Parts: sequence; C-alpha cells; structure tokens
Amino acid sequence: MIETIIEDYSLKNLNTFGIDVNAKYFTVAKDVETLKYIVESCKTDGIKTLILGGGSNILFTKDFDGMVIKPDIQDVRIIFEDAKYTYIKAGAGIEWDSFVEFCVNNNFYGAENLSYIPGTVGASPIQNIGAYGAEAKDIIHLVEYIDTEDNTEKEISNSKCNFGYRDSIFKNQLKNRAIVTNVIFKLSNTPNFKLNYGEIENLVEAQGEVSAKTIKEVITEVRKLKLPEPKEIGNGGSFFKNPVVDNQVAQKIQANHPDMPSYPAGIKTKIPAGWLIEKAGWKGKTVGNCGVHKNQALVLVNYGGATGNEILQLSKQIASDVYKMFGIEITPEINII
Ligand SMILES: Cc1cc2nc3c(=O)[nH]c(=O)nc-3n(C[C@H](O)[C@H](O)[C@H](O)COP(=O)(O)OP(=O)(O)OC[C@H]3O[C@@H](n4cnc5c(N)ncnc54)[C@H](O)[C@@H]3O)c2cc1C
Repeated sequence: MIETIIEDYSLKNLNTFGIDVNAKYFTVAKDVETLKYIVESCKTDGIKTLILGGGSNILFTKDFDGMVIKPDIQDVRIIFEDAKYTYIKAGAGIEWDSFVEFCVNNNFYGAENLSYIPGTVGASPIQNIGAYGAEAKDIIHLVEYIDTEDNTEKEISNSKCNFGYRDSIFKNQLKNRAIVTNVIFKLSNTPNFKLNYGEIENLVEAQGEVSAKTIKEVITEVRKLKLPEPKEIGNGGSFFKNPVVDNQVAQKIQANHPDMPSYPAGIKTKIPAGWLIEKAGWKGKTVGNCGVHKNQALVLVNYGGATGNEILQLSKQIASDVYKMFGIEITPEINII
C-alpha cells in the first residue's frame, strides 16, 4: 500500500525535544513492502532518508532536506513457545511501553524493568535501551531489518548485533543502512526479577507483592518523579552517555572527590555523566531557551522555542567544562541530525 507523502511537514510534534523543524518530505509506512517501495523510490530520485520512531532520542539541528520515514508496523504475535521461553514478534512501530505492558499482562518476564522508556520497538535495539539493571539485549532474540544497500529483508541474531552500553551494530556498521521492521523477543515463562537496583527493591516490597506488574508500576512512578515529561518540558532523556574510563583515571578523580559514584564496567569503571556535569556547575542552569534540568543534570531541556543548535551548543559547552575539570570526554547518547 502506498502511503501519502506530505511535503514540508513539521516535525515539532514528532520529537520529544519539541524542536520546530520541517522535513522536505514525510511519510508513514505500515508494512515492509511499503518501506521497501519508499526506500527504492528515494534511491532512484536521489532523495536522502531518515527513519524516525518516537523521536525521543533525536536532536534536530536543521530542517531535514529529504524524506523522513516513520515505520508503523503494529503487529505483535507469539511465534514460538517452549518450556522456558516465549518468542514474540513485535512490529517496529509499536510503542515500547505498550509492548512492555503486553508482556507484563501475559506473564512473559524480562521486559518489566524497561517500563516507561519512551519510543518504539523498532528503536529498542538501535542503542540497546536500558534502565534499572536491564537492557534490551537481555530479551532480544533476533532483529529483522531492511538492508537499504540492496533493499532486501534480512535478519540478525542477538549475538551478531554487537550490543554494548547504549550501542549496537545499528549505530556503527549498519548506521543509516538498516531499517528495523520487526524485533523477535525471547521472554522467560518464569519470573527472574532483577530488583537490586537503587531503591527499587524496597519500593516493590512495600507494595506487598513482588510481581512484574508491581515492578512496572513502581518503575513507572519513580521515572515520572525523576524525569521531566517531554509533553511538559521538551527533552530527550539522557543527553550524554556515562563515560567508561580506566580504573586509574577513576581512582585519581576519586582521590580529590571521595563522593564520586562509580560502577564496575568490565575491566574499566563507569562514572555517572550527571555527577560530572553537576560538579562542573551546570545542574539547573538556563541558557536562553534551554538549559540543564534542575533535578537531572544529564537531561538537557527545551523550555520553549529553543532551536536544536542552541541545545547542541549548550551540550558542547558542558562537555568542554567537564573535560577541563576532569580530563574526561563525555559524548552524546542522543542522535544529532
Ligand atoms: C524522558 C526520556 C527518558 C528516556 N529514558 C531512557 C532510558 O531509561 N533508557 C534508554 O535507553 N533510553 C531512554 N531514553 C531515550 C529513548 O527513549 C530511547 O533511545 C528510544 O529507544 C528511542 O526510541 P524512538 O522510537 O523515539 O527513536 P527515535 O528518537 O525516533 O530514533 C532514535 C534513532 O534510532 C533510529 N531509528 C528509529 N527507529 C528505527 C528503525 N525502525 N530502524 C532503524 N533506525 C531507527 C533513528 O533514525 C535515530 O537515529 C529516554 C528518552 C526520554 C525523552
């Protein structure tokens, strides 16, 4: 089915920063065949393309001079079950939190800690979304995608996705090449809850019953309290990744700042970027129409009318100050367009 193509389409309501930019062309594709057709047509006509999910991990710094394509495949179905696992195929356009809810309501376990993360199923493998000690890679079995190089349908198993901390093959070798169409998840038929993350365990136990449903409820509430709602204040969640540094580097900083939190990351150490930004004096600061959130130093916000470039410049200033103070580079988690 060929969808409507709209010219000069405003993306303001399609990105959680609320940046007011236009796409030269915009379309929604409800199935794989349509996606392939659009990709082929754009290639023939020399039109560049951008795939947009929920727009919750993207910062537009200018109008997009090409075709913005929103994959809207909405099917979800169980494709295989064995004694231990249920394999569920979910379309790229499904809202991530609806998928988590579907799993929780049907007693498929493993997605509950990833509750209330904005965005779509199709974007979940791109940066290997993660929260509260869980990551998408823990439940992704296979990713189906269109390889735009030859416009064919391909699949890639979890072990070949090179999943890492907010990273995957889709941000590297397959960047701007793979359009995720469906993700096949492998959910456990029995609970194996991960509760040892911050205050979650106590909050869940206080509910009286430890279940996927209570975990989802508690995490949703905690997130609502901690993070600004994009509908109220434009933002893209964590702007920067937490830097992973050599242990000696972390120890050196810790010697001067005994309050520095740190976490083991393989043979290295992960330092919360929010802590570094706060120490560099940026928490709660406003610059023009944008700023750093008052409760979450990792979240840059659009207080209304900010351009993507203003936010980008702010992020560069913050990264530069962190570097000057600690000698550590912090890099964006957000996709800058
Ligand atoms: C308030 C808030 C809280 C957040 N909390 C978290 C968190 O706890 N953990 C976390 O990991 N992230 C978090 N994020 C970031 C964001 O929710 C995730 O990165 C999410 O996966 C983005 O999904 P999306 O559909 O909005 O992707 P978009 O922002 O639309 O796109 C992100 C990137 O993926 C590409 N892309 C999107 N869909 C596809 C597709 N089908 N095929 C190929 N490429 C595609 C885009 O081109 C772009 O490069 C948060 C964001 C906000 C605003």
